[in-house]
Amino acid sequence: MSALFGTYLRDELAFERGEGMRLYSTDSVEYLDFMSGIGVNVLGHNDPHLVTALKNASEKVWHVSNLFTIPEAEKLAERLVAETFADQVFFANSGAEAIECALKTARRHFFDAGTPEKFEIIAFTGSFHGRTLGAISAGGNPDYVKGFGPPLPGFQHLAPGDLKAVEAAIGPATAAILIEPVQGEGGVNDIKESFLKGLRKLCDKHSVLLILDEVQCGYGRTGKLFAHEWTGIEPDLMAVAKGIGGGFPLGACLAKGDVAKAMVPGTHGSTYGGNPMACTIGNAVLDRLLEPGFLEHVEEMGREMHWHMHQLMQKFPDLVLEVRGKGLMGGIKIAPPVRDFVGRLKERNLLTVAAGDNVLRLLPPLILTKADIDEAFEKISAAFSDYSKEK
Ligand SMILES: *Cc1c(COP(=O)(O)O)cnc(C)c1O
Repeated sequence: MSALFGTYLRDELAFERGEGMRLYSTDSVEYLDFMSGIGVNVLGHNDPHLVTALKNASEKVWHVSNLFTIPEAEKLAERLVAETFADQVFFANSGAEAIECALKTARRHFFDAGTPEKFEIIAFTGSFHGRTLGAISAGGNPDYVKGFGPPLPGFQHLAPGDLKAVEAAIGPATAAILIEPVQGEGGVNDIKESFLKGLRKLCDKHSVLLILDEVQCGYGRTGKLFAHEWTGIEPDLMAVAKGIGGGFPLGACLAKGDVAKAMVPGTHGSTYGGNPMACTIGNAVLDRLLEPGFLEHVEEMGREMHWHMHQLMQKFPDLVLEVRGKGLMGGIKIAPPVRDFVGRLKERNLLTVAAGDNVLRLLPPLILTKADIDEAFEKISAAFSDYSKEK
């Protein structure tokens, strides 16, 4: 029996090294990585720029606490501010912590404004915001909430898509609306642009904050630095993690200045959050993402991947039920049980990940080439062929 908590249905497969799009198992088998450790390794494995940054950082201070100025954190925050709607940033170590900060900041903003009765958050079914008590309450997935006592008060969940229902749900206690522009875990649901724009309008009309969870769909994944950039709207708060550290634990909560200003000394904190190691690597990731042509490459590869997904649907109409997602966040709703199918692809040395609603999720490193996509879809197509022969 493993000495680790049994919280995961862990595969026995273990890896010892990686190179770009490839991972090599401890028994020296090569795999094509189309999951990036669940959307994290945006630059693939063993990226020379990240390795150099990490090696250099390892010989400087690793950690000093947030009681001191951390130049690398100041720099990363300034760069994120320059690239986004935000004026200020709080660094954390994970997506769930980034969400916690966003929720606390939203509530504190209204407390600070003399309206502490405004603390409710409207969130959506099919969403995922992490595994802390606050994040499971925000996510509202009954499977994740069950058995942990009463969820935190002040959250309600609506089906995404119905603006009238959202407006009806907004009341004097509503502080914020929280949504993933592309739902990841829940089944790779690309939220309609008109709905996101409508939410922004409702937030403005009713003085409610808009919080975007871009933990999975942000950081270049859809072909823009952040997915909401496709819509032209801006949030008041945004949670970021996964891609931001390229594999080093890092998360961030980005906020507009008038919202962040409520978070004065003593209101929030993190021992590790934004430490020199993490922020040095965060800066190195951003160097690469902001290189001219990087995001255009993601967009182009995203189009390529979606073309292949549609081909697959034409070829196997009984097995491929729907194609979803945006850019290099791909979802294929399939008829065969998805976990079994992920196992079949692993047998063909292709790593993918399941999402809710029986969706096969493709989250390749953003550095992939057309040849990698061709190779992946040959494997997926072969797996479907085999599956249909067995039936
Ligand atoms: C993964 C994820 C989280 C939680 O991130 P952790 O780093 O696992 O805490 C939150 N929101 C979304 C959209 C995610 O995909």
